[in-house]
Amino acid sequence: MNPLLDFSGLPRFDAVQPEHVTPAIRQLLEENRALIERLIADETAATWNAFVQPMLDAGERLSRAWGIVGHLHSVNDVPPWREAYNAMLPEVSSFYADLGQNLALFARYKALAAGSEFPTLSPARRRIIENELRDFRLSGAELPEDKKPRFKEIQEELSALGAKFSENLLDATNAHAEWIENEADLAGLPDDAKAAAKAAAEKDGKPGWKFTLHAPSYIPVLQFCDNRELRARMYRASATRASEFGKAELNNGPLIDRLLALRAEEAKILGYANYAEVSLAAKMADTPAQVAAFQRDMAAKARPFAERDVAELKDFARRELGMDALESWDLSWASEKLKQARYSFSDDEVKQYFPSPSVLAGLFRVIESLFAVSLKPDSAQTWHPSVRFFRIERAGKLIGQFYLDLYARETKRGGAWMDDAITRRRVGTGIQTPVAYLNCNFPEPVGDKPATFSHDDVITLFHECGHGLHHLLTQVDELPVSGINGVEWDAVELPSQFMENFCWEWDVLSGMTAHAETGVTLPRALYDKMIAAKNFQSGLQTLRQIEFGLFDLLLHSEFTPDGGKGYMDLLNEVRSEVAVLLPPEWNRFPNSFSHIFGGGYAAGYYSYKWAEVLSADAYEAFEEAARTSGTTLDAATGERFWREILAVGGSRPALESFRAFRGRDPLPDALLRQSGMAVAA
Ligand SMILES: [Zn+2]
Repeated sequence: MNPLLDFSGLPRFDAVQPEHVTPAIRQLLEENRALIERLIADETAATWNAFVQPMLDAGERLSRAWGIVGHLHSVNDVPPWREAYNAMLPEVSSFYADLGQNLALFARYKALAAGSEFPTLSPARRRIIENELRDFRLSGAELPEDKKPRFKEIQEELSALGAKFSENLLDATNAHAEWIENEADLAGLPDDAKAAAKAAAEKDGKPGWKFTLHAPSYIPVLQFCDNRELRARMYRASATRASEFGKAELNNGPLIDRLLALRAEEAKILGYANYAEVSLAAKMADTPAQVAAFQRDMAAKARPFAERDVAELKDFARRELGMDALESWDLSWASEKLKQARYSFSDDEVKQYFPSPSVLAGLFRVIESLFAVSLKPDSAQTWHPSVRFFRIERAGKLIGQFYLDLYARETKRGGAWMDDAITRRRVGTGIQTPVAYLNCNFPEPVGDKPATFSHDDVITLFHECGHGLHHLLTQVDELPVSGINGVEWDAVELPSQFMENFCWEWDVLSGMTAHAETGVTLPRALYDKMIAAKNFQSGLQTLRQIEFGLFDLLLHSEFTPDGGKGYMDLLNEVRSEVAVLLPPEWNRFPNSFSHIFGGGYAAGYYSYKWAEVLSADAYEAFEEAARTSGTTLDAATGERFWREILAVGGSRPALESFRAFRGRDPLPDALLRQSGMAVAA
């Protein structure tokens, strides 16, 4: 039997081979297609049990099997697995694309929503149906026939423009390089950045050092290199990428105008006032006005701190660096000098305090204390000998299980991520418990000593565990809204960023440290420096994020491209409202703003700050509890966080969940305070 078609339990990693992929996935696609054919031909009234449930059951088999293939492709990207994955990817993608465009299915969902059964369904089931209808509508399914061709044309042109925007940006990024022949011109640059530049030059068969506008090459130069002319040249080249100052065929300016016009037209066809409303339709935030007000409020509160940051930086530059005027290409360099002068400590020094066994024990203690669960080693087939497997129990009862794949390997995709192997839901025999993959890319242990983690690594681990807990601690019985399924895009980072907070809590953090050589815990003085460095220039950084977020939002709501005002005029307005440091007049930041023009963040860039506000505000409930219970690991507040946020997953709107937990709407004050921007009373 094909092990990919065995759904009786955990994935059978010992048995699954690349040659199983095509037959298994083809069979499941066939099964799903045949079922859909049968359901839409059915003349009887659509009901949950006759229509939705069979679709969910068949859909789950496909997504579970394809999930195993995708997971192996990510963690064991050897040629046979890559081939097996790529061989089926187009068929799977086209199946899902067709599903979203199937008007007969849309009609069945509409009939179900209008039928007599609908009001009797559970809120979770009603939400699943409403989400389906919303997604069909946003993809144009409900448009009158005469509007559909134009809508389709817009979609196609938008996706081509987005791709072209990214291509132009990449080509313009590659179009500039700096060649340095004299090492003295690189004073201040760290050795690893120099070594990378040397290797880049060698690759081109040239002597010396090569620097490009790609972030890993560009950022260290702007941050560390004492050579002001080099910094100025690279800054100008980067800030004018894909603009009218470079090659005409790479200019993204006309593409931006066209993208904005088409998005506005798409919104009108769908019956919305502007594109921001379309973007927010499936998000936690309600209206563009609400998001604008949120950002403006945050900007006003951060402003005094940003002004203080600038005054300090200018004062330091004048006194210590002998510079009277700071240009845009001096800012990160001078800031780095100031940071070094004030809070210098090395990441390596910190790292010695975080051996993996202490960190894992600390992490497990946090989870166990907050949610009254116990985490125990468990056994399962895995894809690599270093992968571990654990079970979560509450009062002796199994709640969920997870794989922990901590270390970097050559065949593993970079970064850190959580993925679902099995999702909780009610099945005929009872509850199907959830299973998660937690993946990181930390340096593996050398010799017989345990691996040590940087503080950033520890934060990453807590972050992914937050996503994992969202998936594993859900109590929802319906798969499409269970765990992180169905959670709004701008709310999904709440549990993950929430968990990060514990990595900055003195009691929690010191409790998971033991110096690799001496076994002593983290010294308080070092911790204080880590906190100060974390909050360094937080006012400035906040305003910078809000400048981008507010520009993005206004561009897709209030701005009309043909009103005689260009997008640069709008950016200048936003800057004069928000920013405390103004870049040169020739800076063309929008031309490389690929999040919103080449990616999926249009009218959604605000969500970075939004999620930080939510998680900081949620965490503040634990700080409040600590004032009486003495610890942020407060079980009563943890129980409430579980019940109102984690347990309900996507089964109700995230704002409702937040209100149920916090007793009010989210406020930015906790984030400001946690970033060192407390307003003195
Ligand atoms: Zn995340």
